[in-house]
Amino acid sequence: MEDTESYKIRLAIFKWLEQLIPLYDYVLNWEQLTKGFYYANIPIPLIGAKGIWKPKAINKYPISITTVQKSIYTDEFIDDETLYYSYRGEDHCHPDNVGLRDAMNDQIPLIYFHQLLKGVYHVTWPIFIVGDEPDKLRFTASVESYNVLTNSSLLQEPEAKYRRKYQTKEVLIRLHQKSFRERILHAYREHCAICNLQHRSLLDAAHIIPDHDGGKPEVSNGLSLCKIHHAAYDQNILGISPDYKVEIRNDILSEIDGPMLKYGLQEMNGHKLILPHSVKNKPDKNGLDFRYQQFKSA
Ligand SMILES: [Zn+2]
Repeated sequence: MEDTESYKIRLAIFKWLEQLIPLYDYVLNWEQLTKGFYYANIPIPLIGAKGIWKPKAINKYPISITTVQKSIYTDEFIDDETLYYSYRGEDHCHPDNVGLRDAMNDQIPLIYFHQLLKGVYHVTWPIFIVGDEPDKLRFTASVESYNVLTNSSLLQEPEAKYRRKYQTKEVLIRLHQKSFRERILHAYREHCAICNLQHRSLLDAAHIIPDHDGGKPEVSNGLSLCKIHHAAYDQNILGISPDYKVEIRNDILSEIDGPMLKYGLQEMNGHKLILPHSVKNKPDKNGLDFRYQQFKSA
């Protein structure tokens, strides 16, 4: 069992996250997580230098686990339904591993941070550690709904296993989407590759080859586009040639309408894409060509 004061802090942290998450769409930065939460006027960092993190104000159990990209620990979602979390080092009895094992045995809710970019994290909570695999040096974790925390009888019910499996799957899908979005927006310095719009909330990470056609979640298979240009690209109102030129469909070029059509679409005809600096992040020419052929025959 967790002592009352620690549990109070834990719940206050969850409540704080619940208010913050809708504003930031599940993505928070290092600054917000290390300096943002106060309990009784004392700042409590929710993330630390170590992957398994316990702030001083909380006794015994950790508050969060963090996966860092290219970390020496491999946390991979092998079957897209389970979240694996590597031990710290190889010592089963390292205090951090013991802390997480205790959290599993006593079913203590935790937060899971997944680093998307340096200093940028996808936030998931509550999660529970549900398995310990000493031979593989890893734990397994499961996502739970927030409202279950306030209704303890729900934690015991037999459907919990299926609900958690479903929620975990949903979170992992969202995590992959956010990861793709953050990497694309970062590579394109947060602007639309066609019109240069720099309003983050109006930007999408568009796929060149869609998921269902085997498109990979790599930056070279994406474009940072504003909402209107994303929709226009997906509907073949505009095409992008393999040499990075924007083309507006002929019938659209001759239409007469308001300023959005004139400035937003017609005047983009012949524009060169604004591209990422690094060669490996530039849009894949084969992918662009595949889509361009579809646009030409539309
Ligand atoms: Zn645009």
